[in-house]
Amino acid sequence: MGHLKLHIPGPVEVSEKTYRAFCIPMIGHRGQDFKDLYAEIQPQLQKLFYTEHLVFLSTSSAWGVMEGSLRNLVAKKVLCCMCGAFSDKWFDVANRCGKEADSLKVDWGSPILPDQIDQRLATGEFDALTLVHNETSTGVMNPLEGIRDLKKKYPEVMLIVDAVTSFSAVPIKFDELGIDVLLTGSQKALALPPGFGLFVVSPAALEKAATLADRGYYFDFLEFQKNAEKNMTPSTPSIGHIYALRSKLEDIFEEGLEKRYERHATLSGMTREWAARNEFTLFPESGYESKTLTCINNGAKPGGRIVDVAQMQKLVKAEGILFDGGYGKVKGTTFRLSNMGDETEESMNALYEALDKGLARL
Ligand SMILES: *Cc1c(COP(=O)(O)O)cnc(C)c1O
Repeated sequence: MGHLKLHIPGPVEVSEKTYRAFCIPMIGHRGQDFKDLYAEIQPQLQKLFYTEHLVFLSTSSAWGVMEGSLRNLVAKKVLCCMCGAFSDKWFDVANRCGKEADSLKVDWGSPILPDQIDQRLATGEFDALTLVHNETSTGVMNPLEGIRDLKKKYPEVMLIVDAVTSFSAVPIKFDELGIDVLLTGSQKALALPPGFGLFVVSPAALEKAATLADRGYYFDFLEFQKNAEKNMTPSTPSIGHIYALRSKLEDIFEEGLEKRYERHATLSGMTREWAARNEFTLFPESGYESKTLTCINNGAKPGGRIVDVAQMQKLVKAEGILFDGGYGKVKGTTFRLSNMGDETEESMNALYEALDKGLARL
């Protein structure tokens, strides 16, 4: 069988142009050519992150930066906001890093709301918080607007935001919101090959990190800052990823940020319409649906149509498309359709057509 078009929520389809950029011949990572490359993309990265601070490049998948954030910033206790598989995992990883952690849990499909966070931070127990902006397992996009007020009220609490499946698809204004760490990975909303992470750290977080002894080396925020000031990375980076990123940034700014945001909103809306047309209901609570992927209810919650997802995946695969059959404890009782990256109305319509064909044959 040939290549399957990816409509899973990561890795997503990578364009020919991006692959070509990934394969540009190697350069030395301590030479002027590399510094020029990093310096060239830095202003565009800062625009995408809505920040005046330096954007760091990590040769690791997002989890490396996530673990690094905990090691750099948690001295007392971290509050992990848990609303799905990825946000739940943050709690597990905090424990594995030997950090004191507590959870703010809501049912899968529900969002984390600022008032709930406020109540917990008011205890004064915490010096850090983890929040997944777009919970990939449930298709819930948590509201970020409230972050600004929380930061004003609790300036000493380090706000760590995981935007792996929303970064560049919706605006996330790092400086304005008062976020302390905003991180993303390469293979989801950015539609690059997997194995790379991007992140920004606030000056307050750098100061805090300087007071922690066990930051390690590979993900030491102070090393990233020191090197980024010279347009370098602490260790040898995946240079192919940086070429691919430069190419992707070209695409992003050629399309225009507003148009890119609009495109993701439109395409996710089309998927929600497809679901409604086929008598499915959605898994996320109304009003908190993700703009990059749609998690469709298939028995996890009452109401709506229920189908044999595994069988439907097979039928859609025969049409050359891969979609996701649900993640973690909602595997099979939900399924997910991604519109992250370079998708268009045309490519999404091809997905719906393949799904319709599959449904007709069930
Ligand atoms: C995929 C994902 C991650 C982890 O990314 P890796 O590339 O596997 O490290 C973290 N958070 C969210 C919300 C994700 O969707």
